[in-house]
Amino acid sequence: MRLRRKYCYNNRVMNLAHRMEQHLPRQLLELIKYISEQAARNEQRVYLVGGIVRDLLLEDPSLRSGPLDSGLRFDIDLTVEGDAVRLAQQVADTGKAKLLAHHRFGTAKLRYENLALDMATARKETYARPGALPAVTPGTLKNDLIRRDFSINAMAISLSSNDYGELVDPYQGKSDLERHLIRVLHPESFSDDATRILRAVRYEQRLGFELETQTARLLKRNTAMLDTISGDRIRHELELVFREEQPELAIRRLAKLGVLQRISPCLKGDGWITERFDRARRLKKPTQLPSLYFCLLIYAFGEGELEQFLGRLNMPAKLSHAMRDTLRLKNTLWLLDTASLKPSEIYHLLHEYAPLATEANAIASASSPAQRHLQLFLTKLRYVKASLNGEELKRLGISPGPEMGEILQRLHRAKLDGEVRTKADEERLALSLSLEL
Ligand code: ATP
Repeated sequence: MRLRRKYCYNNRVMNLAHRMEQHLPRQLLELIKYISEQAARNEQRVYLVGGIVRDLLLEDPSLRSGPLDSGLRFDIDLTVEGDAVRLAQQVADTGKAKLLAHHRFGTAKLRYENLALDMATARKETYARPGALPAVTPGTLKNDLIRRDFSINAMAISLSSNDYGELVDPYQGKSDLERHLIRVLHPESFSDDATRILRAVRYEQRLGFELETQTARLLKRNTAMLDTISGDRIRHELELVFREEQPELAIRRLAKLGVLQRISPCLKGDGWITERFDRARRLKKPTQLPSLYFCLLIYAFGEGELEQFLGRLNMPAKLSHAMRDTLRLKNTLWLLDTASLKPSEIYHLLHEYAPLATEANAIASASSPAQRHLQLFLTKLRYVKASLNGEELKRLGISPGPEMGEILQRLHRAKLDGEVRTKADEERLALSLSLEL
């Protein structure tokens, strides 16, 4: 009762139990109920927190799917007043879910089929210096909500039996949702953690909201604080932007606010990006898009600028390689402008580049012949193989060595150009080449 009175605002308590029944899968509700019963036995309180609460209030139909490639349908967060790891362990011990991982600092992950639940002990955070990771101690739900990024993400739903489904909204998140506002909870929010600058714009653009006036002022004043954020964290936030349905909206807004330029002075968010991102979406599956967007984002860079960007974001080796290849290929793209290239010539020009770089260039290039050649390579030529291999050439009496290498290459070229079709065609060509070489 005491808690209930404490978190009630405007003398109105909203109950979301019905919406939870409507929008969450039965298995998830059952698991949540089981967790809350176990918590009650431990004299703990459990709450749904974070994006799930916001999305339930918005009745968002695309509610809570997990990361693109995770296969998760629901990925949600619970906060426990008390020891979350112990609670998660107890639930796992009964076989109701699997404990995937747990950490010393009071967080655990439960998984059941395509549901994942992150459970965390309610915590209090203090920042020793801007951009540093916060010092964490156990706290109350209210402590846990005030450390969050924006009011619309700082609400909770009680899962305790005496007030199951009640909204806990000490920082007026619901009112901001209704007014379509993104608002930070205190003036130091962006300087404590400048990744919130990127997050603010991501939510603003996803939801079609606006930055609240004071929040917008604070955001602009704190863009330099992005320099305090590690490359991994900035990259992670950009990846989250790239998982949005239309990331170009956030990219353009970030450019307008001067945020992108703070990450790299050469980054641009303009009409070109909008058009190319849109084209990328029409061609590629959602899981393939984030890496492709990165390659398109740096398309106008010079080599030196790219190296600075890769270093700033601590970009992983594989994607760095594809991004470097994107620029290398862009610089030789004029060779693909000729309309009359043979398939083997196209293959020769493109086969050494990372496929992602070829895809980025197929989307970015303004020349129709080049685009056509890049597409032909991506959809067909890169898969073409000659039927004969070294072993089969040996059986035809051709001995291993540089000559055989040359014959294999010529067979591949002939296959690409449609000069041989069947295995018998290839055998004839191989034998005549062996006499010629
Ligand atoms: P979505 O997945 O739809 O973007 P989400 O709210 O679930 O939304 P997560 O990134 O999973 O997003 O974060 C879960 C919650 O953790 C957020 O709702 C927010 O309350 C909090 N949070 C995440 N990042 C930060 C941050 N940098 N500072 C403060 N709170 C954060």
